[in-house]
Amino acid sequence: MTLRAPKGTDDILPPISATWRRLLRAWSAWTERYGYDLIITPLFEAVEVFSRGVGEFNELVEKQMYTFNDKGGRALALRPEGTASVVRSYLQAGAAGVWKVAYEGPMFRYERPQAGRRRQFHQLGVEYLGTDSPLADAEVIELGYRYLTDVKVPGLVVLVNSIGDRACRPAYLDALRSYLREHEAVLCEDSRRRMETNPMRVLDCKVCAPKLHDAPVPTDYLCDECERHFTSVKEQLDRLGVPYRPAPRLVRGLDYYTRTAFEYVATDLDAAQNAVGGGGRYDGLAETLGGKPVPGVGLALGLDRIVLAGAEPDGPELDVFVATATTERVRDVLTIVSQLRQEGWRADFDPDGRSLKSQFKQAARRNSRMVVILGDDLDTVTVRNMSTGEQRDVPTGEVTQWL
Ligand code: AMP
Repeated sequence: MTLRAPKGTDDILPPISATWRRLLRAWSAWTERYGYDLIITPLFEAVEVFSRGVGEFNELVEKQMYTFNDKGGRALALRPEGTASVVRSYLQAGAAGVWKVAYEGPMFRYERPQAGRRRQFHQLGVEYLGTDSPLADAEVIELGYRYLTDVKVPGLVVLVNSIGDRACRPAYLDALRSYLREHEAVLCEDSRRRMETNPMRVLDCKVCAPKLHDAPVPTDYLCDECERHFTSVKEQLDRLGVPYRPAPRLVRGLDYYTRTAFEYVATDLDAAQNAVGGGGRYDGLAETLGGKPVPGVGLALGLDRIVLAGAEPDGPELDVFVATATTERVRDVLTIVSQLRQEGWRADFDPDGRSLKSQFKQAARRNSRMVVILGDDLDTVTVRNMSTGEQRDVPTGEVTQWL
């Protein structure tokens, strides 16, 4: 019997893992540029972090969470998302004021696996805690947009909405519930159940949504403060040059969202899995977790889907592959490679003394920018630019200049 990875999980292998590495590197660079510190929280948490935070009646908690009791009898869950953990961490650390943190790592959801819908998947996220300023919403939306543009996700569209807050949402939910009751006959079984517990989710249902085109939308019910906040977020996005589409029917799957909700869609992907990321404001979450009120806004991008969408982050994997046709010189090759590595170049070689042709093939497969060839003469090497094909002999000591 051969052992296999569990259903709905993937090994991320070369050459795709090279794209992942570039995407992770770019994520780290963009979040640093925007002033987000790194946060690492545990992959598992007490079940309540999610049942309270995300909401008990949410299907993420009802059906999709990997839960288990540890040997000490504690009820734990593999994290299905990152935000609740970060807010739990803020409260536990006794933090005050503004926290800007970025994370990346695997999330776990018991889903029906298909392309772009996995049981273990990787998210990139930020949380901006401790401010209710609409400028924070705009900054977070902009960061996601700049990142996804930089890594060249094709067909990218930003959708923005406001779903109100504790003051105005109840009236909206009442209106939505009575609309849904009138239309109960056309709803699927899941939506009928959700209609009472989590009616906004019905608008998210792929089967029912197309039949509910005249359903009331949250923006028709916003209170003055939510209206002002939403206007300000949109104005700021205009000033930053972030193109977006208002999406009155965009709701978020998780219960803790208030006001701003947004999504990044890769329109080239299959509609069911075309959300490459999303986020929103969650001013009520900290209290739901038993803490003081802490406003916050954040986003999470799905790395698996960014790759699936055909992102093409810049940068070759290797700067230089050092080759030789002279078997006796393989040891000198490693010496040169080591020197180059210490100078900061990404350098590699073939230790097995294969033919020069095979070494060139390896260099091409590794997407190396340059190849350096050592001949019999120790004092000169040949440097070849792999994209232009240009080649010249240079003194060994000047190699780095040519790179
Ligand atoms: P959510 O936390 O549900 O708002 O998800 C944020 C992003 O994570 C989505 O836009 C997807 O790109 C990605 N995502 C969510 N669930 C999955 C999954 N099961 N498999 C792969 N990516 C996912």
